Amino acid sequence: ELRTPLTVINGFLEINAMQPDLDASPRAAHIQLMVEQGERMQRLVEDMLTLSRLESTELHMRSERIDMYFMLQHIMEEAKALSKNRHEFVLDFEGPNIKGSADDIRSAISNLVTNAVRYTPENGKINLIWKVNAIGPILTVQDNGIGISQEHIARLTERFYRVDKSRSRETQGTGLGLAIVKHVLIRHNAQLEIESTPNVGSQFIIQFQSDVIV
Ligand code: ADP
Repeated sequence: ELRTPLTVINGFLEINAMQPDLDASPRAAHIQLMVEQGERMQRLVEDMLTLSRLESTELHMRSERIDMYFMLQHIMEEAKALSKNRHEFVLDFEGPNIKGSADDIRSAISNLVTNAVRYTPENGKINLIWKVNAIGPILTVQDNGIGISQEHIARLTERFYRVDKSRSRETQGTGLGLAIVKHVLIRHNAQLEIESTPNVGSQFIIQFQSDVIV
């Protein structure tokens, strides 16, 4: 995954080193492609570091009180900025505050909401629902986007597993988002459930246990 962008960058650097008199226009195009690939490598390295930190078992998990309304509002505002007004957002908030690692929980939920934006065409609707059921608090991220066919669902949290590689690249995906979500949830004793229908939409559901309620 890191080798491909690096090969592109090195390839263009070599061309430019060998042809110092290259016209401004192809040179600018090469620089643009190198910038894109550099950014891609940066996202990959950041996600890989996050994942390896989550996997290191010695690490003590922080447990702090999380203001869920504040967090979900903030995540939704960020998602709106990413969407650039192309989607409609609704926050349905009825659940309690919880305890856990605020940074990790924010990163997990934010990954799901970002995915909902990236895999939902213009004018789509994204719902963020925070409730509590008999087991504990439950978060649902719902979209009416492109959906996922059944045979892929069990494998989505594997690192670098993508249903459509080009779509993931196009929307700046690293293929590590759901692997990060899975690890954050393991550390919080929560479960991820995925329900989806192609061309109808997807629901990503996080079920927490009741002992996280504060
Ligand atoms: P990526 O960076 O490729 O989005 P993720 O780990 O976040 O990686 O997701 C893995 C794959 O799951 C994606 O490539 C995409 O095919 C699929 N996926 C995730 N979320 C959604 C969604 N809300 N709607 C449709 N497909 C999704």
